[in-house]
Amino acid sequence: MAKHCIGCKREIGQGQQECYICGSSQNYIRYYLKSVIVFILLLVAMTWLGYGYIDKRINQAKRDNTIQAGLEMQAATKKIRELEQQLEQVNVQVQQAEVNTAQSSEAANEEKLKLVETEKRAKKAGERAGWLSKENRRFKAKIKELTEKLSAAKTVVQVRTPQAAPTNSQLASLKQELASYESQKQTLVSNISSKQKQLEASWQQASGGAPVSPDMVAQRAQQLEQATAGEKNQVLLLDGQIEAVKKKISDIEGGSS
Ligand SMILES: [Zn+2]
Repeated sequence: MAKHCIGCKREIGQGQQECYICGSSQNYIRYYLKSVIVFILLLVAMTWLGYGYIDKRINQAKRDNTIQAGLEMQAATKKIRELEQQLEQVNVQVQQAEVNTAQSSEAANEEKLKLVETEKRAKKAGERAGWLSKENRRFKAKIKELTEKLSAAKTVVQVRTPQAAPTNSQLASLKQELASYESQKQTLVSNISSKQKQLEASWQQASGGAPVSPDMVAQRAQQLEQATAGEKNQVLLLDGQIEAVKKKISDIEGGSS
């Protein structure tokens, strides 16, 4: 009875240990042992490689994670430091702003006080200047009035010429007196005016045309007042004398008519 080879399936004799064609062992265990060993070896190798690969991947992943976490932590730390610095800067700015506010309000108060002081001085100087110009107007009006009265008196004297001799000579002498006072007064007035002009010229030279402070204006007004006080007093005295002479003239005229 024939049997078939385990390896090539050809017909071989009964009891044959090996196939005479392909050389395969007809013992099942022997025949498959090589394959099983090779399979096991391959399995072991693959398992080993697989483990190695997985292990490598896990380690890699761990390393990656560690690096990533480290980087993130570093970034976060950096960010925190930056924020802390910014906070510190903001605090410094806030302190600076507080100091500035305190300083500027202090400065504003000082400025306000100065302004008030300057305004006071300017007002005072303005009042003084106003008084001076009022005085000036008053003098001018007085002079005009006197001039008119003088010319009226002259007319009267001329008209009354044909009157009695004593009255006429008295009137003539009074007229002379009046003219003398008038001329003295004119001299004083022109003195006052020339003194003012001189002072103004010297001020102009001193300041060089620059704007003048209220202080300076007040000072100048005072200077002018002091410089012309004597003349002004004399003018007032002359006014009194002129009035007296005029009264005499009108008395004579009233008595003769
Ligand atoms: Zn065979």
